[in-house]
Amino acid sequence: MEPLIPETIAKRVQSVLAKIRSAEEQSGRPAGTVRLVAATKTVTVEDIAEGVRAGLSILGENRVQEALPKIAAFSQVPVHWHFLGQLQRRKVRSVIGRFDLIHSVDTLELAQEIDRRAGEAGCRQDVLLEVNIGGEPTKAGFHPDDVVRAVPMMAQLSHTCIKGLMTIPPLTADSDSARPYFRKLHDLAGQIAALEVPTVRMDELSMGMSNDYAVAIEEGATLVRVGTAIFGVRHV
Ligand SMILES: *Cc1c(COP(=O)(O)O)cnc(C)c1O
Repeated sequence: MEPLIPETIAKRVQSVLAKIRSAEEQSGRPAGTVRLVAATKTVTVEDIAEGVRAGLSILGENRVQEALPKIAAFSQVPVHWHFLGQLQRRKVRSVIGRFDLIHSVDTLELAQEIDRRAGEAGCRQDVLLEVNIGGEPTKAGFHPDDVVRAVPMMAQLSHTCIKGLMTIPPLTADSDSARPYFRKLHDLAGQIAALEVPTVRMDELSMGMSNDYAVAIEEGATLVRVGTAIFGVRHV
């Protein structure tokens, strides 16, 4: 019998990818509509490399300092990097052009700074707006009402492409209790899409982590961010 939690990173990658496929199937969504972002904070280059050999193609990092040497280590490997962590304005210059997608734009000012720096670099930066869907006082992200008000002000951004929304829901006892939060993010994306701001698309929903990505997929996730279920419990 297969052990409940596979023993190697390679096997866990296969198991997560299989679970994504089956959640797609169960919710009647075409295969390949959900992409796996492996959350690699604190994970060594060697362990990440094992995951990449097993099929990971998108790697998500939280801190600029930690990410840059890893990106350099994989410069000859066709992988994509996403930025997941809270981004300080003074670090924006270091992330432009290095990450295909920034998941964590949590203020209008940060969006404006990204736009300015992307303009200087002569590129267009794809981003998601992070929403504090549970309205938790200590958590980053736009309040759900504020994001709807902020989006029209992002129409002027000419070097930024807003692709969708991201959220980290409140901690819940089980994955099913997270479902209303995922549904709420999905509804919010519909509300924002209806504003028809030309530079703002709502194609991507980044939601779901190790404990709840199957439920998030059922509620419309297009990107799931999974760390522990692939690399094991973080000790740092
Ligand atoms: C660490 C992290 C994840 C992955 O969390 P796990 O529970 O380890 O799967 C997802 N999203 C963000 C923003 C993270 O920082």
